[in-house]
Amino acid sequence: MPTTAAHLATPPASPDVIECVEPATLAPLGRVPVDGPDAVRDAVARARVAQARWGASSFETRRALCAHVMAHLLDHADELARIVVRDSGKTLDNALMGEIWPVCEKLRWTIAHGEKHLAPERMSSGLFLHKRATVLYQPLGVIGVICPWNYPLQNVLGPTIPALFAGNAVVVKVSEQVAWSAARFQRILDEAFDALGYPRDTVRIVNGFGATGAALVRSGVDKVVFTGSVENGRRILEGSVEHLTPVVLELGGKDAFIVCEDAHLEQAVHAALAGVFISAGQSCMAAERVLVHERLYDEFVARVTDHASAMRIGAALEAPADVGAIVSDEQLALIERLVSDAVSRGARALCGGRADRARGRFYEPTVLVGVTPDMPIANEELFGPVMVVMRVRDDDEAIALANRTRFGLGSTVMSRSPARARKIAEALRVGSCTINDFGFTYMAQDLPFGGVDASGFGRLNGREGLRACTNVKAILEDRFPLHMPAKIYPSDPKTYPLVRGALRLLYQPSLSGKAKAALELARALRS
Ligand code: NAD
Repeated sequence: MPTTAAHLATPPASPDVIECVEPATLAPLGRVPVDGPDAVRDAVARARVAQARWGASSFETRRALCAHVMAHLLDHADELARIVVRDSGKTLDNALMGEIWPVCEKLRWTIAHGEKHLAPERMSSGLFLHKRATVLYQPLGVIGVICPWNYPLQNVLGPTIPALFAGNAVVVKVSEQVAWSAARFQRILDEAFDALGYPRDTVRIVNGFGATGAALVRSGVDKVVFTGSVENGRRILEGSVEHLTPVVLELGGKDAFIVCEDAHLEQAVHAALAGVFISAGQSCMAAERVLVHERLYDEFVARVTDHASAMRIGAALEAPADVGAIVSDEQLALIERLVSDAVSRGARALCGGRADRARGRFYEPTVLVGVTPDMPIANEELFGPVMVVMRVRDDDEAIALANRTRFGLGSTVMSRSPARARKIAEALRVGSCTINDFGFTYMAQDLPFGGVDASGFGRLNGREGLRACTNVKAILEDRFPLHMPAKIYPSDPKTYPLVRGALRLLYQPSLSGKAKAALELARALRS
């Protein structure tokens, strides 16, 4: 059985330094020192001091911070995209569309809507008409963010922006696979805090391997937002037990992409190509299983194979490329193992099906057919540029197959019938579903993002993501200065019959029941 991505981490050559390499060319990028447990604790302690000021800042100031970050991203978009490309191996288009754009959209959304979702909220006071009920969304304190490698810029800023907007300080542990770019991203935040006169310690990025992440989890931060593999998600939960630290887990996926018989074929083909080949398939919500109705199957497979065969792999900064590199040797070996295992069990690669190590770490764009539901490739996260296409007889079979894995992150349904697509979307056990496009749920920042089952729990984005960064505090206060004592002590023999009468009066559904209760109450009051 092939191993999953999280079992693949190569033991570091030195525990004190990260050797950074360009995945697309294997050229060295430099060495980044590892932050050990003491450095992590120090960053958290400094962040806690900084948070005392930042937590008292106005929403106006927090919007200004977002605007600074946005201006930096726009002014330096080309430079930042190239940094992302060098560190992660993705293409320039993928860097601009998949990293800088979603972060800009998150900033725009936060500036426009953040205050509305975090302002004190008036609630019903229920029975207590003389009281006023309010919910406050107060900062938690210091939030620890632990990132994977697949979106170096977005993985840092995506969870950091809502945490900051809610008044928290943040300590971010970036992935050892993309440690080289972290210092440049720190500069974005440093310059924004400098401009506003707040301490840089409000956000600190730390570098290191798993041990650095583990130290952050155990550092006493007030929440951990972890994005990564299922196996390390379990380790985060284990670590969180020590201080009862709340945790958000954004884990892996095995997303289904369902093409109904009434789908617009050309639209489905292009959405599927995007779903599989963006970032060379190294996205948590990549279309890992394309389930196509048997009536469209042959034509669909022919078209995607034509497109995939023509795609260019390569280092995007040297020559135009459609599909970028694979981040690590271990990840490349995992893709090879899952594909060759599937082929040995009867699957066929209609194009690609091989790694290309001539210039860097690449895997040829692949279309794989003949995959059966029990094969490991149909169940384990692949994270590679491989379109696994499976034939289905009807919607019910598509739903059953889609729900068959342990994951439940995103999904896609392609159909010309809104009712049919919606019915399928509702039947999928997932955190999100995009109908007739790929991945747009993530760009619609009002929508929460996250998964169920092995894909984790908790939500990023939207109102739910913002409020997840807060202590949701309930306040009940006097509406009028009545000052009526609620005399429960010392106990009184009238209390029991009075309460019983009041219960019946309030909750009896029928009018006759309420009338009887009123009489009982009157008797109890008289006695
Ligand atoms: P990973 O689990 O190997 O590493 C993620 C981070 O955890 C890294 O920074 C790593 O150093 C750190 N880490 C490792 N061991 C740790 C420990 N014991 N304690 C604390 N931190 C530890 O994941 P990866 O290979 O970097 O990323 C790929 C995975 O991330 C895939 O499974 C992918 O689906 C998932 N992912 C999920 C989402 C989502 O939103 N659901 C988004 C992107 C990626």
